[in-house]
Amino acid sequence: MQEGLREDVRDAVRAGQVSGSGMDIGINKDVCIGAGQCALLAPRVFTQDDEGLSELAEDWEQAAAGPGAPVREAARACPVGAISVTDVRSAS
Ligand code: SF4
Repeated sequence: MQEGLREDVRDAVRAGQVSGSGMDIGINKDVCIGAGQCALLAPRVFTQDDEGLSELAEDWEQAAAGPGAPVREAARACPVGAISVTDVRSAS
């Protein structure tokens, strides 16, 4: 697990689902094979842990909110479908 993540985010990443920047990003580490496509395509959003499995980068929320952040492309490129991305709209 990456140093510098907020404790609540760290817990959520362990659980496989985090929210922020208007989207939910789920990483299923039981499915991830460490191919690294996500980190290659969106290196400011995804990184890999010591075992090579995907995890969210330290500043992923800011990076994911940026214009043209290739979060969905990274999810589509994952060869085992380990990443899910869902838009979250506020109910106001
Ligand atoms: S592309 Fe998929 S399999 Fe590869 S590291 Fe990312 S989540 Fe894991």
